[in-house]
Amino acid sequence: MTGHTIDSIRSGLLAKKFSAEELAREALAFAEAENPKTNAYLTFAPERALAAARAVDEKIAAGIDPGPLAGVPIGVKDVIVTRGLRTTCASRLLANYIPPYDATAVIRLEQAGGVILGKTNCDEFAMGSSNENSAFGPVRNPAALDRVPGGSSGGSAAVVAQGTATLSLGSDTGGSIRQPASFCGVVGVTPTYGRVSRYGLTAFASSLDHIGPFSRTVRDSARLLQVIAGRDEMDATSAFAPVPDYAAALDGNVRGMKIGLPREYFDNLASETGDLILRAVEVLKKLGCETREIRLPHTPYAIACYYVIATAEASSNLARYDGVRYTSRADASDTLSDMYRITRGEGFGAECKRRIMLGTYVLSAGYYDAYYLKAQKVRSLIARDYSEAFEQVDAIVGPVSPFPAFKLGEKVDDPVSMYLSDIYTITGDLAGIPCMSVPCGSTADGLPVGLQVFARHFDETTMFRVTDAYQRASN
Ligand code: GLN
Repeated sequence: MTGHTIDSIRSGLLAKKFSAEELAREALAFAEAENPKTNAYLTFAPERALAAARAVDEKIAAGIDPGPLAGVPIGVKDVIVTRGLRTTCASRLLANYIPPYDATAVIRLEQAGGVILGKTNCDEFAMGSSNENSAFGPVRNPAALDRVPGGSSGGSAAVVAQGTATLSLGSDTGGSIRQPASFCGVVGVTPTYGRVSRYGLTAFASSLDHIGPFSRTVRDSARLLQVIAGRDEMDATSAFAPVPDYAAALDGNVRGMKIGLPREYFDNLASETGDLILRAVEVLKKLGCETREIRLPHTPYAIACYYVIATAEASSNLARYDGVRYTSRADASDTLSDMYRITRGEGFGAECKRRIMLGTYVLSAGYYDAYYLKAQKVRSLIARDYSEAFEQVDAIVGPVSPFPAFKLGEKVDDPVSMYLSDIYTITGDLAGIPCMSVPCGSTADGLPVGLQVFARHFDETTMFRVTDAYQRASN
């Protein structure tokens, strides 16, 4: 299980070394046995997985192409809905919620022959940077079990790092794919906003939410994105832009490519993380990339800007969990307003409540202009920083996180210091550009560190070319 890629599974299936059903059975047994170490899966889906695997075997037997993800074991973050399969958003409120439909990304995965093993743990409603806000307990980092896997897609990063899935889907609103990928030592991709349909992704902050892949190799993430990307009439914000053949562009040649190094990202980057990032930059130079310093001057305002916009949107999106339209209603209520109050009071964890209060505050009359409107203006300036930088360079490179995985419990009582761990990732979401994390080594303590690469809107190809070339060269 642990060594597979999309290609190795495909060739094993076609050479009849194993059937998709055999692989699925082994994958499920391995994942169930390993899961207690990390708590990365919340729900397993054996029947669904075996049915999908049998469908692949039948296609192969009939001589039909079994699809680009044939037989590949996949974990799906539990904020992405799956028909008939419990989807909790790691919240007590939805502990027994069975969705009546599949997210578009899930439909596309399964049409491509993918085998969904189960749903992965995360921060409640994707709010957090450490996966400690899950109502079902934290995830532990497979590289160091006393440390966090990052968040909010901690479970999706952990299953790939642990080898209990070959691929997974996560969601990124302010770094939730790249930061856990970096902490766990796997590849994590945030596509351009609108590249992948959000239909069936539980809304946190709709103008920032993305679905994206995790894998061990860049090539596998490129292949997975290929399958889930593209216009979907169920999501009006999904883009019409054609989806290029990402994997075909991965020839390892990045000679002459111009890479920008933002001064704001490197200035305070002492420490082992900084050394590993600089070493990765040297590898890119050896491959023939030209590097130059660029400026992203509005970076210092990004966290404040993000935590105004994201909480504002969250306060509105989370209003739907009222005990009427979804599961779990507090019984001890005599009046309608008590029913709302008690249901929501019991159902939401502390971080969700904090954000609902903050978001309601910044949207309220009298504060709207001072906070929400101001943050939208800052967001435009941050996006403009990137467009100006991309007039000079093809890709931008920097760290994902200022530090590697921290200890469980280390930051839970200090939300502001938790928010600061998002400094290098949230700008990409605010600008809506594609960005990703690729492993670039480990600290002396064996903690993985990720290199972040950003590209222009809809130019995932360049981002994949840089990271694939880097991954080949750095082995
Ligand atoms: N850590 C950020 C937050 O807590 C990002 C979350 C995300 O990307 N879903 O909001």
